[in-house]
Formats: sequence, C-alpha cells, structure tokens
Amino acid sequence: MNKEIEQVALMLKTSRNTVVVTGAGISTEAGIPDFRGEHGIYRQLGEDRVMQIINIDCFRSNPDHFYLFYRKHFHSYAHVRPSPAHLALAQLEGQGLVKAVVTQNIDGLHQKAGSRRVVAIHGTADRYVCTNRACQEVYDQDYVDTYPLTVPCCEQCEEALKPDVVLFGEPIKNYYDALELITGAHLLIVIGSSLTVYPLAGFVRDYCNSNKDLLIINKGPTQMDYAATLKVDAGHTGDFLGRVLDRI
Ligand code: NAD
Repeated sequence: MNKEIEQVALMLKTSRNTVVVTGAGISTEAGIPDFRGEHGIYRQLGEDRVMQIINIDCFRSNPDHFYLFYRKHFHSYAHVRPSPAHLALAQLEGQGLVKAVVTQNIDGLHQKAGSRRVVAIHGTADRYVCTNRACQEVYDQDYVDTYPLTVPCCEQCEEALKPDVVLFGEPIKNYYDALELITGAHLLIVIGSSLTVYPLAGFVRDYCNSNKDLLIINKGPTQMDYAATLKVDAGHTGDFLGRVLDRI
C-alpha cells in the first residue's frame, strides 16, 4: 500500500491536467449505498424493475406510479455529509492538483465538500424542475417532501415537477464538458465506479486510446482495469486519499 501511495502522489505532482471521474463508490463511505453493492437497490429490487420505473417514459405516462416508487426508494441527500474522500478531492483541487471532477453521482457531496469545478452528468437529486417549458421553476426537496399529493406540482402553473436527475432513456447533462475534460486530461483518476454506465465509460475508453496514465481506485473490478497504469483495490478510499495528501 505504501508503494501505491508514493506512486499516486508522484502521478499527481507531475501531471499538469488531472481530472477525476467519480461514481457511487465514493459516496458509500458517506453512507449512501451504491446500486450494485450488497445493500444496493439493484440487488434488492432487481435492475430491470428499477430501470422500468426510473425511466422517462414511466414518468411521462404514469407519474403517480413513478413518484410512489421514487419517494419510497430515492431518499433526500440533504442531510448527508461528504466523506473523507470527497474532502480530499476538494483539497487537491484547492492545491491546484486536480482540475475538475466529473461525477455520475446525484448527491451533491462534491460541491458540499468544497470542490468548485464539478460536472454532474446525471443531475442533482435535491432539485425539482417544473415540466412546463415556459415555466421551468425550480423547487427544493422540502417543497416536494411537504407537498400534499404524490406527484408534486408547480405552484405557479400546476404542472408536474420532475426530479432534476437523468432518468433511464434521457441523455446525460453536460455531455461535451465531460467529454472534453476527460479526453483532454493528462492524468485521469477514476474513483468508485464500475465503469459500466455509458456514455461515461465510453469517454474513459476514448481517453485510454491516447495512451495516457489511468489510475483506478475502486473496490472490486471495473470494465477498464486492463487499461489502468495503476489499479488500487481500495475499500477505504478516504483513508487512502488522505495518506496520498500527506505525501504531497
Ligand atoms: P456502480 O454501482 O456501478 O459502481 C460503484 C463501484 O464502487 C463498485 O465497483 C463498488 O465495488 C465500488 N465501491 C463501493 N464502495 C467503495 C469504496 N468505499 N471505495 C471504492 N470503491 C467502492 O456505480 P456507478 O458506476 O457510479 O454507476 C451507477 C449509477 O448509479 C450511476 O449512474 C449513478 O448516477 C447512480 N448512483 C448514484 C449514487 C449517488 O449519487 N451517491 C448512488 C447510487 C447510484
């Protein structure tokens, strides 16, 4: 482990353009289960069922069904605190050693930890947007939690609100920002993602085509382990990154 810490510290110090990609695994130490892990929603309810309901077609055709499921299984992250790994990444950005974080997560924990340049490609769970294009008023979690009906509606125009997250069947947000940051990096670090979700996994694949350093810090295998300059199989990412910071 000490050798890996030295190597990661050196990679960070010598790179002029480091971008970090994060997935659900960086937030498990903050208490939010990933989807595929032991306590994850895919294991408990089945991936197909989740994909059929957390889906833009279901939201449009049967918003009651969608919200009954969403309210039960997707909780607010408003009171969750960032993990040591989120804080370490914010510190690395503050020291000029990380340029940006591209995240699949919808929990807002990078921003809470103090990271300034965060590209959230799957949106933000604690935001809800009016589906009336002419309105697009934004609401917070409290508004939705205290709304008297299953489907929360806009108080201006009474149209349904949609969680500001990318549902199955929708394009990701900030596509070009994420692609440009990832493929333009000189060092790419992937933390807590199995790299099975596209298009992000494809961006990482494109980056690897140019033979630049790829560092993967993940508990268990990812789809891109074969391309990594270094793979750290770490279950305690916060601890690991803290020790890297101490070496810098
Ligand atoms: P994933 O579930 O496919 O992969 C997560 C990976 O992180 C797994 O390989 C797991 O073994 C690993 N992991 C778990 N704990 C770890 C730890 N402490 N340190 C290092 N690695 C750890 O997640 P994904 O690739 O991000 O894709 C799943 C989708 O689920 C994404 O689209 C994301 O939007 C969504 N999601 C988001 C959240 C969140 O916002 N916190 C939570 C669950 C799922």
